[in-house]
Amino acid sequence: MTWYRGLESFVRPGVSLAPMTSYRVGGPAEYFAEPPGEEALGMVLRRAHEESIPVNLLGHGTNLLVGDRGVKGLVLRLPKQGFAEMRQDGARLSVGAGHSLPGLVKWSVARNLGGLACLVGVPGTVGAALRMNAGGKYGEIGARVRGVWGFAMDGTRFAYDRAHCGFQYRDSGLKGRIVTRCELEIEDEAAPGAERLDARQVLEEKRATQPLAARSAGCVFKNPKRPGVPPAGKLIDEMGLKGRRLGGAEVSTRHANFLVTHPGATAADLAALIRLIRTRVLRERGVWLDLEIAVWGLNDEELGAA
Ligand SMILES: Cc1cc2nc3c(=O)[nH]c(=O)nc-3n(C[C@H](O)[C@H](O)[C@H](O)COP(=O)(O)OP(=O)(O)OC[C@H]3O[C@@H](n4cnc5c(N)ncnc54)[C@H](O)[C@@H]3O)c2cc1C
Repeated sequence: MTWYRGLESFVRPGVSLAPMTSYRVGGPAEYFAEPPGEEALGMVLRRAHEESIPVNLLGHGTNLLVGDRGVKGLVLRLPKQGFAEMRQDGARLSVGAGHSLPGLVKWSVARNLGGLACLVGVPGTVGAALRMNAGGKYGEIGARVRGVWGFAMDGTRFAYDRAHCGFQYRDSGLKGRIVTRCELEIEDEAAPGAERLDARQVLEEKRATQPLAARSAGCVFKNPKRPGVPPAGKLIDEMGLKGRRLGGAEVSTRHANFLVTHPGATAADLAALIRLIRTRVLRERGVWLDLEIAVWGLNDEELGAA
């Protein structure tokens, strides 16, 4: 008897994850589910918890490396139906976690609503943007958050205000939580003193410095926060690794903190490139590079961290 009896309408075994990630590599999820609403999500979480099935949450897979052996347990994805509603009430915007972040940013920029233009050019879902505290040099999503709602992995609900979300550089205290909805604070750009960030300029800057058309997951490593240590991309560039290719994985020639994949690439190729970069930067600069991307189904040794 399967552990997901009665939930077969939205739980399936053995689903390939590669097409659901921007690297297009990696093996299958042992089980995959797209629950059609919060009630179904709570139900499948409680069942998985009772049966000790590990759960991982997938957004649009644009900041994720899945190992070639795949992922044990259940991979959940929040479908648009039930998880992508958006409602504006003055300066408050309530958004479902399954909503596309670029869609939200485009919507707000078109209405002259300030506060989200710093997120132009960041792909993915709103839920993952909160989990990763997505952003860039002009700001991060965490600064706009009033509240976040969702589930713990055992199926119980949580509601956090911003102070409880633990937002920090490309990270948050939302690890191990499933965000289903948030409330953001937006500004009327016509208001005196309101933010005036030119979304087109932000996008042009990104286009000029990042390989936006290639298969990548954005920046792979976090920038070290030690005084005097340059950003990760500069460190990798200084090692002469731009353009270095292992199998189907390559250090982008445009931005050394982006690894790009070519057709036929495997997760093992990417892991080997990550090991090479970490080893060289540690040996020659004494700096350990922490990963910014999420990794599923690869161990520390494979990522050079053992
Ligand atoms: C070309 C390119 C440019 C990028 N530029 C930037 C940038 O400028 N700034 C930046 O910050 N990032 C950038 N990224 C990385 C990526 O877009 C962001 O991290 C984005 O927030 C990931 O969203 P996703 O839905 O694809 O998440 P996924 O890759 O699917 O998941 C990422 C992590 O979030 C978790 N997660 C997903 N959904 C939820 C949820 N509902 N609740 C809780 N956890 C969840 C996953 O479990 C995983 O740990 C870039 C990526 C690409 C490919």
